[in-house]
Amino acid sequence: MSIDTHCHLNFEQYQNDRLDVFMRARESGLQYFINVGIDEVTSKEAIALAAKETDVYATVGLHPHSADQGQMPLYDRLESLMASKKVVAVGEIGLDYFKSEAMPQTQQKVFRNMLGLAGKARLPVVVHSRNAFKDTLAILRETKERFKDLKAVFHCFSYDKDCLQEALDEGFFVSFTGNVTFPTAHPIKASARHVPMDRFMLETDSPYLAPQPVRGKRNEPSFIHHQAECIADLKGCSLSEVIKATTENAIKFFGLPS
Ligand SMILES: [Zn+2]
Repeated sequence: MSIDTHCHLNFEQYQNDRLDVFMRARESGLQYFINVGIDEVTSKEAIALAAKETDVYATVGLHPHSADQGQMPLYDRLESLMASKKVVAVGEIGLDYFKSEAMPQTQQKVFRNMLGLAGKARLPVVVHSRNAFKDTLAILRETKERFKDLKAVFHCFSYDKDCLQEALDEGFFVSFTGNVTFPTAHPIKASARHVPMDRFMLETDSPYLAPQPVRGKRNEPSFIHHQAECIADLKGCSLSEVIKATTENAIKFFGLPS
C-alpha cells in the first residue's frame, strides 16, 4: 500500500468526479492521502475532506504564492485550524523566487511565522521551495534552534544532489512528484538515486505534475506508481521495496495510524 503525501483533491479540477478519483486510487493500492492546504480557504476544505473520507488527512498552510495575505488575524485563524482533527502537518509553506509575486522579504516573514506556529503546535512541516534553496535551508536551520525536534519535508524536490545532501545533513526529508519521470530531469533523477531509502516519500501534487506516460493531463493519486517505478529503476531496487520504504517513512513522519 502506498501513501500520496501531497495532493490537492479539494481543488475544483475534481468537482465532477472526485469519488471516481478516490475509487481509482484505492483500487490501485493507495492507503492514505495527505490533502495539502495552500491558504485559509483550501486548508478548511482539506479539513472538511478529511472529516468525510477516513483515509484522508489534512494540512494547514500558507503558500508563498499567497504570502501577501499574511496578516496578524489570519495567523490566529490558521493556528486554530491547526488544532482541528486529522491535521497532521503545517504546509505548504516556504519560498518561491521563481513564480511568486510576493517579495522575497514578505515570503520569508510568512515562512518564519508559519514555522513558529508549526513549532508551537509540534507539527511537521511541508515545504515548498523553488529557486530559493539557500534561504529555505537557512530559515529552517534557524527554526530548528528554537524547536529542536522540527521535522520538515521538501515537497516536489527539484534541486540537485548537493542541495539534497545539505537537506539530509539537517535531518530533513524530501518527496518526489511526477517530474522525476521527465526525461530531461537529470538533477532530480540524480537526487532520487542518491537519497537513502529511509529519507524520502512519494507524492503526486495532484492535480499538477502528472508523470511521464500521462504528462500534461490532470494528475491523480492512482498515477503515483509511475514515479515509484521510475525511482525503483533509478535506485536499482524493486517497486515493492520503494513502496514499502516510502509508506513506512510517511507513517512515521506524519504520525499516521499503521
Ligand atoms: Zn502542492
